[in-house]
Amino acid sequence: SNRVPWILGTHLHPEVGPLDRAPSGSRVCMIEAHGFARRKPYHHHKLTLVFAAMRHVRDELREAGYEVEYVRTETFREGLATYFDRHPDDTLVAMRSPSHRSGDRFADLVDAVGGDLELVGNELFCSTRAAFDEWADGETDAFRHEGFYRWLRSESGVLLREDGSPVGGEWNLDEDNREFPPDDWAAPPVYEPELDDLTAEVSEWVAAEFDTWGSTSDFPWSVTREDALAALDHFVTERLPEFGPYQDAMRADDPAMAHALLSPAVNLGLLHPWEAVTAIEDAYRSRDDVPLNSAEGAIRQFLGWREFMRHVYRHAMPDLAEASQLGAERPLPDLFWSGETDMACVGGSVGDVYDRGYSHHIQRLMVLSNFATLWGVDPDELNEWFHATYVDAYHWVTTPNVVEMGSYGSGVFATKPYVSSANYVDRMSDYCEGCAYDPDQTTGKGACPFNALYWDFLARNEDDLRSNHRMGLLYGHVDDKREDCEMDEIYQRVSELRTMEREGEL
Ligand code: SF4
Repeated sequence: SNRVPWILGTHLHPEVGPLDRAPSGSRVCMIEAHGFARRKPYHHHKLTLVFAAMRHVRDELREAGYEVEYVRTETFREGLATYFDRHPDDTLVAMRSPSHRSGDRFADLVDAVGGDLELVGNELFCSTRAAFDEWADGETDAFRHEGFYRWLRSESGVLLREDGSPVGGEWNLDEDNREFPPDDWAAPPVYEPELDDLTAEVSEWVAAEFDTWGSTSDFPWSVTREDALAALDHFVTERLPEFGPYQDAMRADDPAMAHALLSPAVNLGLLHPWEAVTAIEDAYRSRDDVPLNSAEGAIRQFLGWREFMRHVYRHAMPDLAEASQLGAERPLPDLFWSGETDMACVGGSVGDVYDRGYSHHIQRLMVLSNFATLWGVDPDELNEWFHATYVDAYHWVTTPNVVEMGSYGSGVFATKPYVSSANYVDRMSDYCEGCAYDPDQTTGKGACPFNALYWDFLARNEDDLRSNHRMGLLYGHVDDKREDCEMDEIYQRVSELRTMEREGEL
C-alpha cells in the first residue's frame, strides 16, 4: 500500500521523520481538527500559531510538488474518515506524539474508520526513548536532571573537551546566572516577524470561531520554518551573550529580557532542538562575546531540561497529572484569568501571558506557580491554566513542569517545593518597587501576601516537609515564630487574604 506521512500540527519540520523521507510528488496527510480548541479557553495566539503554521506548511509542501490532502474538520476521527474515504489503500505513517496515550488513541481512531496506521519514533528530540530507558535502567538517580544532562552532554559531545570533560571544567554554570541587571541595562532587541496575510486571516478566524482568552492583536510568533530559523539566528547573534547572567531576573516592563523566545517554534517542530543547540555551541566556539555561562545555560534548556521533561512525563504518567502529594485542592483564584490584583508580580506576569501567551521561566516558577502553591491550589488546576494560556504549552511540557516542579505534586524528580516569600521576588525583580503591598511586612494591612502565605504553607505541610533535609533550616524559623506567638498573626493574615481573594480585592 501507499505509505503516506501524516503530519501532526506539532510535527511541522520538513527535514525530519516520514516527511523527510517522502520525495516531492508524494501524498501527505494533514488534519486540522477544531474540536479540541473548543474544550478549553485557549489563548488566541496559541490557536492562531498552530493553525497558521499548519496552513503555511500545507502551502509550502504544495509549492514543492507534494500532493497535500488537507482536511479541515471538527474531530480527528471525522478527519481520518474523510481521508480514508478518499484514499482507502493508504497507510498513514506518523511520528509518535509525546502526549500520554496519544499513540494508542490515534491507532484506535484509524482502526475505527477502517484505515491503517504505522507509528514511528519521534525524531524531533535530541534523545530517544530507548536510549533513555537503557541509561535509566542502571541509574539509581535517573530522575534527577543533572545526571541526565551530563549523560546527554557526554553522549552528544556538546560543549565537551577532547578528554570528555566539560568545556570550562564545570557542567553547570548556574551560579553565574543569578544576577539582576543594572538600572541602565537595555535588553537586546527582540525578533519581530512580519504578520503575513495568511496568519492575519487565521487570527481573525480564530477570534470569531473560538471562545479564546488573551489578546487577539499584536501576534508576535514565528509561523514558518524560515522565520523560526531567522528568529534563532537573531537570538544567537543579538541576545545570547546576555541570556545567562540575567536569565532569572524579572523586570516589570520587560517580558522578554534576553530569553530565546524559541520554545513555541521548537514545540511545534518548526525548529529542531539540535538546530538550537548547534547554533549556540557554534556561536560560543567562534565568537568571543558569548560567555560560557550564557551558552551552557541556553543549551541546558534545549538539550537538558526539555528532553528530561519528556522522559519524566512518559514514565510518571498517568499518575503525575492527578498528583497532589501535599493535598492541595483549592481552586485556582480567578485573578489568574482576570489579572486583577494589587500584587504587582502576579498581575504583571498574568498580563504578560494575556498579551502574548508567554512569560519567561522565572515568572512561571517563582511568581505564578509559587503563588498558586503557597495558596494551596490543586496542581491539576494550575496545570490546566498553563496548558490553555501559554503558546509553548503541551500536556507533556506543562505536566512535569507545573505539577511537579511548580507545585511539588509528586516528588518524582523535585527534591523540595520551589516556594519563597517576597524576599526572592524583591531580590530578582523590580516588581516590589511598584507594588501596593510591602515586601518587608508579613502581617498587618498592606503586608505582602507571599510572606504570610509562605509561613502558613510551611506550617500546614509540616508533616510532609519537616524531615526533608533541604527544608530543615526553615522549620527552625517556624519554631521561633511559634514561640513568639507570631504564627497566630500569620494565620489571621492568611484568613484575611482568603477573604480578600473571594471579594476580588487581593
Ligand atoms: Fe509581589 Fe509581594 Fe513584591 Fe508585591 S510586594 S510585587 S506581591 S512579592
